[in-house]
Formats: sequence, C-alpha cells, structure tokens
Amino acid sequence: MSDKVHLGHRARKRFGQNFLNDAMIIDKIVTAIDPKPQDNLVEIGPGLGAITEPVAALSGHLTVVELDMDLAERLTQHPFLASKLTVHQGDAMKFDFSSLIKEGEKLKIFGNLPYNVSTPLLFHLFEFVDNVEHMHFMLQKEVVNRMVASPGSKAFGRLSVMTQYYCYAMPVIEVPPTCFKPAPKVDSAVVRLMPKPAEQRSAKCTKLLNTVCLEAFNQRRKTLRNSLSNLLTEAEIAGLGIDAGLRAENLSLNQFIEIANFIYDKQH
Ligand code: SAM
Repeated sequence: MSDKVHLGHRARKRFGQNFLNDAMIIDKIVTAIDPKPQDNLVEIGPGLGAITEPVAALSGHLTVVELDMDLAERLTQHPFLASKLTVHQGDAMKFDFSSLIKEGEKLKIFGNLPYNVSTPLLFHLFEFVDNVEHMHFMLQKEVVNRMVASPGSKAFGRLSVMTQYYCYAMPVIEVPPTCFKPAPKVDSAVVRLMPKPAEQRSAKCTKLLNTVCLEAFNQRRKTLRNSLSNLLTEAEIAGLGIDAGLRAENLSLNQFIEIANFIYDKQH
C-alpha cells in the first residue's frame, strides 16, 4: 500500500500531513504534555488522532482545531474520541484561542504542527501567551534549533528573538523521519514553550520589536549602522551603548528590546 495512505486516509501535502506512527515517540510526547483531567487542553492539527487518543484517555476532554474537513468530520464520528472532543474545523492561524478560556484558567496547547505554516502559526500563538500555561509542538528540527538559538550562533534570527521574548523554549524530544507516515524529508523535534510572565516582556510594542528583527536580520551580514538605518541613526545606536559595527546576530534579546523601545519613544 502507498506510504501516503494511513488508516484509510490519503495524506494531503497541502495541509502538511505527516502522521505520527511510532508508539514510543507518541508516549514520550504525551509524557511531556502530562495531561490531567482538570486541564484545558487544546490540540492543533489532531489529524487521525495519534496524540489525541492517549491525551483524551488521560484528560477526559480536549478541544481540537483541524483544517482538513474530512479529518475533522472523521473525529466527530470516532468511536472512542467523539464524546471527548470539541472539534473546531478551521484554520488555527485564524483561531481565537482566548475564546476557549474559562475564568482564571490557562490553556495547555500542543500539536504535531503542519511544517509548511509553522512559523506564521507560532507567531499567531505568541499573541495568546497570557492565556497559556505551556505549549508542546513537533516541528522541523531546524526550526526548533532556530527557536532556541543563542546570540552569536548561525541559527540566531528573528524566530529566536521573538520566541525567547515570549517564552522559555527548550527542545525535549528528537524525532527521525521514520516515525511518520508518510516520512518527511527532514528531522523533527518537539519543543516545550513556557510563556514568560508579562512583567518580563518589556517591549512597549511587540510589532515594533518584530520590525526591528526583520530589518536587522534581513541582510544579516550587514552591520547595524546599515541594516537599521531606516529606523535609527548610528549616533542613536551608540547612545544605547550598542556598537553600531556589530551585526544583528551579536545582539542580545534585551538589546533588541532596548532598540525597539527607543524607536517607540521617538515615534510617540
Ligand atoms: N496530529 C497528527 C499526528 O501527529 O499524526 C497529524 C499531524 S500533521 C503533521 C498536521 C495536521 O495539521 C494535519 O492533520 C493537518 O490537516 C492539520 N493542519 C494543517 N494546517 C492546519 C491549520 N492551518 N490549522 C489547523 N490544522 C491544520
């Protein structure tokens, strides 16, 4: 049988469908999520239920957001899961996760994310960190490496700065292509994201922080005096105690925040 057909479903490339098919890895992911009956759990892209089933067995209930109409429909008919799920058929990138919050509760979000949209999806999820206790996501290993990268390393970029602005991020499980059906062409990894408390997120405008990162890393070989010239002068960079001859990859998260806050004050 074709590698693309799994449990009677033909995997759709456009939805980034690579289904988990390895009991040991699924077990490790569920252990990392550590679902409890009182938890408000949300899964993005449940697919055929590989992680959904063991999580539901431990928690009793969870909410899922699935874009593929056929898979969402299949979950509502599932003999074990149907009564345990609230299924939202739609695009997780447009989903208002705060709508799932009940008084004082926080969400535990997880998913084996579609790799083709993982970065915009992560940025959408970062908007809800105040409503989140923790998140566990399977991603391309290279993406996880970028999320957790430190200044000075090649992988350090906008995704590192923005991830580490919102969350503490740590890789927890490495997953080879053989654990999926169909097998992706790349290695995968699960990352744990623990949102930082609001008082540790000191950017006056996160959109501006993102803009500074976009400009600074757009041509990462350029020095700050050149890459940030649309936003501030060399003298202003020096005034912040930052060497304008450095490159974006040498700045710390705090220095990115200082630059963004300086520009914000200049504009207001
Ligand atoms: N959780 C399943 C597993 O581990 O076997 C499936 C994982 S598969 C990599 C990604 C899943 O996300 C698919 O079920 C796909 O249909 C769904 N998906 C793709 N894009 C989505 C989106 N924008 N919003 C919600 N679900 C999406």
